[in-house]
This record gives sequence, C-alpha cells and structure tokens, in this order.
Amino acid sequence: MMRSAVLAVTNRSATRKLITETTAGKKLAGRFVAGSELTDAIAVAKQLNEAGLLVSLDYLGEHVTDPAEAARATDAYLACIDAIEEHSLDANISVKLTQLGMGLDDDAALRNLDRLASAANTHGMSITIDMEESDHTEMTVRLFERVQRKYGNLGIAIQAYLFRSPEDVRRIGRVGGHVRLCKGAYAEPQEIAHRGDDVEAAFDELCDQLMGMSEVKPAIATHDDARIAHALAAADGREDPWEFQMLYGVRRDRQLELAGQGHDMRIYVPYGEAWYPYLTRRMAERPANMAFFLRAVVGK
Ligand SMILES: Cc1cc2nc3c(=O)[nH]c(=O)nc-3n(C[C@H](O)[C@H](O)[C@H](O)COP(=O)(O)OP(=O)(O)OC[C@H]3O[C@@H](n4cnc5c(N)ncnc54)[C@H](O)[C@@H]3O)c2cc1C
Repeated sequence: MMRSAVLAVTNRSATRKLITETTAGKKLAGRFVAGSELTDAIAVAKQLNEAGLLVSLDYLGEHVTDPAEAARATDAYLACIDAIEEHSLDANISVKLTQLGMGLDDDAALRNLDRLASAANTHGMSITIDMEESDHTEMTVRLFERVQRKYGNLGIAIQAYLFRSPEDVRRIGRVGGHVRLCKGAYAEPQEIAHRGDDVEAAFDELCDQLMGMSEVKPAIATHDDARIAHALAAADGREDPWEFQMLYGVRRDRQLELAGQGHDMRIYVPYGEAWYPYLTRRMAERPANMAFFLRAVVGK
C-alpha cells in the first residue's frame, strides 16, 4: 500500500521536477548512485573491490521510446564491459531489457542483449537481467532463455512477490545461470502478487527452492536480516556457489560484515544521468528516504 502511494506521488511530473532540479534531490540520489559517468562507476567499483566486495554495474535507464536510444544504451554497456576488463575489476553488469528496446521492438532488444552477452563472454564475464514491471516478465524470461542457451553467461532477477515466480525458477533451471532473488520493487496488482508478510514467506520458499538446485547459482538480494538468516540456514550444506547482493548506499556495515564472515557479497552500483525512476523505487521501499528529502526541501 505504502509503496503504491509513494510511487503515485513520485510519478507526478511536479514531484519529478522538484526532486531532479533541487540540490536536496540530487544529494539524495548521490547516496544511491555512483555518479553520472562511467569513470565514477569504475572508481566506486574499485573501492568496493578493495573492501572485499563484488560489484554489478547498472547503467541507469529503462523504457526507451526510440530504437536509437536502445542502441546508445547498448554501446554504453559495451564500454562498461571494456572498462571492467581494462581495470581488472571483479564486476559484472546488470541490464534492464526495456532499456535495450524490449516493449518497443523485442527483436532489437534480443539483438542488443546478444551483443552484450557475446562481448561479456569473451572476457568470461556474466550479465544479470533485472526484472521490471509484471507486463514485461514473460518476455524478459523468454529473451533470457534464448540468449542463455547460446552463451551460458546470463543470470536473471526473480521477484518473490509474483505468484508465477516458483514456475519461472523451474524454467530457468532448465537453461541454468544465476538467479537474483529479490522481493520486488514495483506496485503490482493483488491478483498476481503477494502482499506484506506473504512476500517474505514467498521469498524464503524461493530461497529454499534455489538453494536446492545445483543447476543455478542463487544470488540472495536483500537487506532484510530475517531473510539473510533464512538464506544462511538454507545454504547450510550447499556445495555449489551462491552469493548475497545488496544495493550501493544501503546497509554498508552489514555488507562488510557478511563479506568479512567469508560470504560472497555483490553490490549493485547504478550510474548515469537517468537516476530518477531508480530513486523513486528506493524511496518507496523506505519512506524515511522520502521524509529525509522532504525535510531537506522544506528546510531550505
Ligand atoms: C542487488 C539488488 C538488486 C535488485 N534488483 C531488483 C530487480 O531486478 N527487480 C526488482 O523488482 N527489484 C530489485 N531489487 C529491489 C528489491 O526487490 C527490494 O525492493 C529491495 O531490495 C528492498 O527489499 P529488502 O529485501 O531489502 O527488504 P526491506 O524489508 O525492504 O528492507 C530491509 C531493511 O533494509 C533497509 N533498506 C531496504 N531498502 C532500503 C532503502 N531503499 N534505503 C535505505 N534502507 C533500506 C532498511 O533498514 C530495511 O528495514 C533489488 C535489490 C537488490 C538488493
């Protein structure tokens, strides 16, 4: 409920203007986003690697409305893959398929994803496909399956709140790859998605399902201590690799603590100019972030 309310407010153009054009808004974004340039992202990735953390770089953008924009995003990701290689970073990339043209021209999105998977593959690098709104879930899984069969270096995010997710995990098991398990960040209708505590129960069940599968590498993406404790118990006895993932700027101490205990911890690091929709989802997860921003604006 709270998520839908925050997203309804932040989707208004007046709110967008207020946040993107004020120092307070930019400051809030700076907490969650590495910077606007690839060089900013590389500098942050280096620091995180030095602290013992793995990285996934996300060039911000989604729902392109023009094929040329999708081609530019693909080129930006190719430059990112080259930079990761050049700086010998322990990092991969995370992509949104609507940024590569899905929804506008699905064949073009497939070609763009193919280019990225091919380039990453030459460096032994993996790619994670983010999961977006539910009207894109089926096509996201299909494009993942197509490209994963060809290169074998892809992973995909699965949202615990969607009723369909256990079946999607079984589908992914047939082609293999890594699976980033997250709660889900969008406002979805109750006909297709769990609410409240049910999301947490679904998360734990999917975690058990993934930890029991040798054909996938689970990536448990949460800042929630109860989910983390459940994952640690579920992974007990698992011999195949798995990892934790958290967002840049969220619970830094916990990131370092888990890494210090010997767990692989990957930090999702967004960069680029198109930070507004990403920031709105972070505000919806934690309305205290929205309150912090409003206080800063009102206090001016
Ligand atoms: C690496 C990674 C990748 C993700 N990829 C996707 C994706 O592809 N698709 C998708 O729909 N969702 C994605 N998400 C978002 C996810 O679905 C959740 O919305 C988000 O992680 C919050 O859920 P939580 O499990 O951390 O638990 P919560 O219960 O929301 O948070 C637990 C605690 O973590 C802290 N916390 C959580 N969020 C914030 C925040 N924004 N700011 C400050 N503190 C916070 C708070 O202390 C909170 O009490 C991703 C999350 C991560 C970590």
